[in-house]
This record gives sequence, C-alpha cells and structure tokens, in this order.
Amino acid sequence: MAKISINMKSGEVVEPELIIGIDLGTTNSLVAYVRNGETHIVKDPSGKTSLVPSIVHFNLNGEVIVGETAKQNLITSPERTIYSVKRLLGKSYVDITSVESNLAYDIIDQEDQLVKVKIDDNFHSPVGLSAEILKYLKKRIENHLGREVSKAVITVPAYFNDSQRQATRDAGKLAGLDVLRIINEPTAASLAYGVGLDKEKVETVAVYDLGGGTFDVSILRIEDGVFDVLSTNGDTFLGGDDFDKAIMRHWMSENNISQEHLKEDKSLNQMLRIKAEDAKKILSNNDVYSSEDSQFSLTKEKFIELVQPLIKRTLECTDFAVKDAEIKIEEIDKIILVGGSTRMPIIKSTLEEYFKKEVYNELNPDEVVAMGAAIQADILAGNTKGYLLIDVTPLSLGIETVGGLMDPIIPRNSKIPISAGRSYTTSVDGQTNLKVAVYQGERDLVEHNRKLGEFILKEIPPMAAGMPKIEVHFMLDADGILKVKASEKRSGHSTEVKIKSQYGISEEEMGRMLLDSIQNAEYDMKIKSLLEAKNEARSIVLSSKKFIKQNSAIFNQDEIQTLESHIEDLENSLNGDDKDVVNSAMNQLNEFANPLAQRAMDYNISKALKGKGILE
Ligand code: ADP
Ligand code: MG
Repeated sequence: MAKISINMKSGEVVEPELIIGIDLGTTNSLVAYVRNGETHIVKDPSGKTSLVPSIVHFNLNGEVIVGETAKQNLITSPERTIYSVKRLLGKSYVDITSVESNLAYDIIDQEDQLVKVKIDDNFHSPVGLSAEILKYLKKRIENHLGREVSKAVITVPAYFNDSQRQATRDAGKLAGLDVLRIINEPTAASLAYGVGLDKEKVETVAVYDLGGGTFDVSILRIEDGVFDVLSTNGDTFLGGDDFDKAIMRHWMSENNISQEHLKEDKSLNQMLRIKAEDAKKILSNNDVYSSEDSQFSLTKEKFIELVQPLIKRTLECTDFAVKDAEIKIEEIDKIILVGGSTRMPIIKSTLEEYFKKEVYNELNPDEVVAMGAAIQADILAGNTKGYLLIDVTPLSLGIETVGGLMDPIIPRNSKIPISAGRSYTTSVDGQTNLKVAVYQGERDLVEHNRKLGEFILKEIPPMAAGMPKIEVHFMLDADGILKVKASEKRSGHSTEVKIKSQYGISEEEMGRMLLDSIQNAEYDMKIKSLLEAKNEARSIVLSSKKFIKQNSAIFNQDEIQTLESHIEDLENSLNGDDKDVVNSAMNQLNEFANPLAQRAMDYNISKALKGKGILE
C-alpha cells in the first residue's frame, strides 16, 4: 500500500518519513529500510553482500577505512585495524582485561577508566570507532537512495546495560544520526519473522541468537500485536569467535605453537584466526577441512567435539531464560535462529533436540536483525499502525537503605518502559541531606550488587527523624535508560539525575550476579534479618535516650538506671552478629519501657490539659 503526503501550505508532495534500521554487530553491521511495506537490506555497490565487517582501519595517510577494505588489513597491519569494537563499547578497562590478550591492537587504560584504543599517538574511543561504522552505513544507504537520511533505529544485544545503550546512542549522534530508539536484537528478529502480524494468534517464541561475539536468548509472548519479552539471557563473551578460538587452540597444540609466541607474532595470530573461521564455515557444508598448504586440517567430528562445551553453555543460558519466563519448554511455539553462527548444522540439530520442535531458519540469519530494525523504524515513522514493543529489564534496580540493604524499586524482568516509586524518611534528627545510591542486582546487600551512581538530595528542612517524606522515583525508558528523582514532599525540594553509569558490566559478571543471588539466598536472608533487627534496635536506642531526657522529672533514679542498663545491653548487642540476642535485648527494653511510657503519656496529657485550664 503506497502512501502520499501533501504539504497543505505549498501543495507539494512530501516524501513519506524514512527512518532507517541498523544492526550494529560485533562482527558485521547492516543497514535496512522499509518502503511501501517492503523490507530492503542495502547491499554493497557490487550487489554481492549486505554485510559490512565491523572493522575500522587507520591507514598511514591518516585516512579512516571501514568494512571489507579495512578487513583486508587485519593480517598486514593488525595494530592499525580495529575489530570487535562492540565488545569495548561502554566498558571500563577492568571489564575487558580478559579479552585484551586476544585483540591485536593496543588498548589504553585511561585515567577516566573508559577504554580507548591507541594508534600512533592518537586515542580512539569505542564510541568514536562505532560512529565510523555508522557513518559508513549512513553513506551506503544515502548513495543507494539518492537522498539524505538522519533518523535511525539501532539494535543492541538484550543484555546491554545502560552505559552500553547510551554509548550506542552517542555513537549514532556522532555519526550524524538521530537515534529514535535502541531495540534489542532478539526483539527485532522476531519482528522480521512477522510473528504477531496475525492479531488473532497468541504465540510464545524463543529467539536464539548466536553471532560472532555475543549470544542472546529471549522468550517472547506475542498477543494482540504486542510483543512482550518474557525473559532474556545470554553471554556477550560467547559467539562464533569462540568457535574459531577452539579450532585455533587445537591447531596450536597440534603444531606446538605457544600462547606467548602467538601474542608476539600478531600476524600469525590473525592468519590462524582467519583460517580457523574458514574451517568452521567449510565444515558447515563438508566433512573435512584442509588448508591450502595442508598444514592445518580438521574433521567435522573433531570440530563438534571441540565446540561441545560452547554449545552446552548456550543451552544453560536457554534453561535460565525458560525458567525466568515461568513457562514450560513445551509451551514455546516457535524457535527462531539468528546470527551467522546458527548456520552450523550442529546448532540446528542440537536445538531441535532440546526444544523437541523444528526451528525457524528460513530467513538469512545475518540479516534478520537489520530487517527487524527497519520494521521497527517503519512502525515509529507511523507507517505500520497498531504495533507496540515491550522489553524487560534483566536485573533489579533499587537503592541502598540503612545498613547497606538493597531495596529494589524496579524488580528484574519488569516490562519497560516502567516507572515506580517508594517513600522513605530520615533516620537521624535534623538530617538535611540524604544520599541516594542506585544499585543493580539481585542480592540483599548492596555491597554485592553493582553501583550505578549516587547523588545527594539537599536542603531537606531539619525535622525529627522519621518526619520528612522523601519520594524516590525511578523511570526506566524504552531504551533501558534510567532516570532517578528524589523529592522531599513537605518542602518540595527535588533532585533528578539521569543514571549513565561509567563502567560497563560484562555478561560474565551479569551471569555471576544472578547465580550469586541464588546461591546466597539463605545467607542473604540471615544477614538481612540481622541488619533489619539492628536498624530497629538503633532507632529504639535513640528514641529511648530522647525519652529519658524529656521525662527525667517523672521517673525515679532506679527506673532511670534500669532503663539505661537495658539501653546499654541493646547497644552492646549491636556489636555482635546474633539476631536473637538483638531481638531479646530489644524485647527486654520494650517490656520495661512500655509501662513507663504509658505513665509519661498520662502525665503529659494531664499537664497539657491543666495548662489549658480545662480540668479545674
Ligand atoms: P554479529 O551479530 O556478532 O555481528 P553475525 O550474526 O554477523 O555476528 O555472525 C558472525 C559469525 O557467524 C561469525 O563468527 C562467522 O564466523 C559466523 N558464520 C557465518 N557464516 C557461517 C557458516 N556458514 N558457518 C559457521 N559460522 C558462520
Ligand atoms: Mg548479530
């Protein structure tokens, strides 16, 4: 169905809005668009391939070269040729030390702790490098369409955290693109398969995306044209590259090549990498591989044996995703394969056995994500009405409360966009500042979770502890970017911050955090109840001391001494780690103080009434 828009003032025909879709991949990137309901993936001028290798080369003349031409420099000048830049996006140096030994170029540990790549005397940020790839894609589609484009939808792995999503946005901006939406790759892929177009159908879909550098699995439920992501899981350190590395390691041991030697000889490293990838691809259609010089060979059987542990890891992530979605595996109607690595027949057969169903792989697994991005772009442009995408947040978001406890405000697997808030108060009299520290993770103590940032709510009017009414509000937008607002209701003071965390989180870390929370649930519960008891005890100590001060005239010396010794017992119990001791000291103090409090209240009331002259 073609559409025409007319500018009512000038009477001119306006081109329908065009928003492009970009799959910014670790290994390969693509650009696509939808025109009149039809999806087009833009190919290179020769029409051979739509894949743009995500590689940036800096030549000796100071020129920046992207894509296939850049890839040709991988062997000849590895130190000037950047690949896998997506792995570095939004990450700190500490996050990537495990990857660094496998990269042929220099990574710099900068003071601001965000990773940079050094070539000659110039430093390049991952955002800047990604922007080069995006500029190349922008130019490719502009040449193809013969017009300028400025708006885009860019996809990211479902597991990308806030800082990685923000970095992707920044890269778009730097490339001169207005990034309207960042969407998850598995969500885009399901759109490409047109799942959900039949509004009568309710379907549950698993998307298995094994690319070059990342693995993502998502469970989606599609109902009434709404795409609801029930759960996501994955590992950004698991992809086709690791299959190549498994082959490399095998050949290294067969040919007595040491790790050290490979680290020294970067050209040999790249040569082996490329041969290994070649072998892997050839084994997708053949039973044996042998290099031209016959130095390196591999049978399909041996290959499958080598990569078995990697495949097993993807199934473990899949187990987690199914569990998080709270569904049975039989309830999954469709399994969609995404990413170049799903071309390996062993992946398809393993998954069919795992899900006990046929899998969908008719569409080009390299192109489905870009197709979906273009379809989402078309929805945003208003050309496809009635569709909506809902994503989920992979980890809980919350703030630190007294005693270092994590108080989740947005629980994990909440559908986004979402906004949620909670009321808090102060714990000390006259407190005028309140620190709001934001964390991500599943553990009960913030020290085990990941800190995203903190800020101070200032100018709280001095009041007694417990009086101020402080609202903390979280807003997580459709891109997964968090805004936190704290306001004191009585005074109206408020502070708002956009959390743009400086450090990335690796997927290993993410997986570890989830596993930790399960393994430590019992320990966490113990600690949590101890801390809660201690918090309560501390506030009782404070109020009891205040109580004595205010009512010293009413009680006799004995009573005050006993009360003070109970307070001391309670204070001493705070030094230990036994919840029962704290609770029993608290009970004893309460038991003794309650009748006194009753008496004080009676006394104070009658005094107040007397003062008003009503009784007499
Ligand atoms: P990304 O999303 O990380 O950019 P892609 O989806 O483009 O990655 O997939 C790239 C990966 O797919 C590479 O590791 C490549 O070796 C692998 N790949 C491509 N074709 C084949 C094939 N025929 N057999 C096995 N692996 C393949
Ligand atoms: Mg991909």
